[in-house]
Amino acid sequence: MASNQAGARVAVVGSLNMDLVARAPRMPQPGETLAGHTFAQVPGGKGGNQAVAAARLGAQVAMVGCVGHDANGAQLRAGLEAERIDCAALETSANAPTGVALIIVDDGSQNAIVIIAGSNGEVTPATIARHEAVLAAAEVVVCQLETPPQTVEAALAAAQRLGKIVVLNPAPATEPLPSHWLPLVDYLIPNELEAATLTGLPVRSPDEAAAAAAALRKAGARNVIITLGAQGVLAALGDALPAHFAAPRVAAVDTTAAGDTFIGGFAAQLAQRTPVDDAIRFAQRAAAISVTRAGAQPSIPTREEVDAIR
Ligand code: ADP
Repeated sequence: MASNQAGARVAVVGSLNMDLVARAPRMPQPGETLAGHTFAQVPGGKGGNQAVAAARLGAQVAMVGCVGHDANGAQLRAGLEAERIDCAALETSANAPTGVALIIVDDGSQNAIVIIAGSNGEVTPATIARHEAVLAAAEVVVCQLETPPQTVEAALAAAQRLGKIVVLNPAPATEPLPSHWLPLVDYLIPNELEAATLTGLPVRSPDEAAAAAAALRKAGARNVIITLGAQGVLAALGDALPAHFAAPRVAAVDTTAAGDTFIGGFAAQLAQRTPVDDAIRFAQRAAAISVTRAGAQPSIPTREEVDAIR
């Protein structure tokens, strides 16, 4: 309902990157110089993408993060403000440049990515403490793993202490999460690769995802939602049996930011106190639309577009 909007607040603590995307016929070999097709510079970073998704999908969003004192930083900030995202807690580093992702996409749609964290590394536990009022004003707090781990931990702990609904998208995952983080999180939402990294188990099907979710629950996670691309979502909620939510069938063009769209849409729905099953289905519809369109942030739909395909 539009009338719920004013209360539906989401705070996203996370990364902002400028994505520098080169398209080339194939990946260059070490030492090789290769002529590419096209170049594009687009706002990205999991935190930024999820903030934009939550905003377009109906939440009032505040971003906690850090850009550099440079043109990329100014452009990223302006992009968030154009989505009506509150940037009062988006700091500007005097020292570090804005985070950058160098992305090469080949003709087979394979990509290779180098991320320079830059100013994202300056989001510290002190940043979280300075902007605790932003977390306090939100219903839902969303974190990923593109800021320093001690910052993620501080954000999770503060959000839980403040009684917020805490969502952790453990991306990118390089190792299992510290076990003491799990009780701080209400919804742990990895994709299949991340779920495999967190558990050491194979995660290629809904059944395997159910086993991984069971392992994460045993380790202390309350609610686990594993996204499985075109195979949909496996949700293990509380003590309920794991449930599979099939994805809407669409002709996928570009799956970039599917996961970020899912997270942002899910958080926006939770903030409005939508029942979790319905929030998952809404987020799936939003993510399905995003995969039918090219690009990361440009592919994220609005709530009206998602409601139109209900
Ligand atoms: P990530 O972008 O992190 O790899 P996934 O690929 O698991 O995340 O996608 C997240 C969600 O987006 C899925 O759970 C699903 O709901 C939706 N999705 C992704 N790919 C497709 C697809 N080909 N068709 C329909 N929905 C998709």
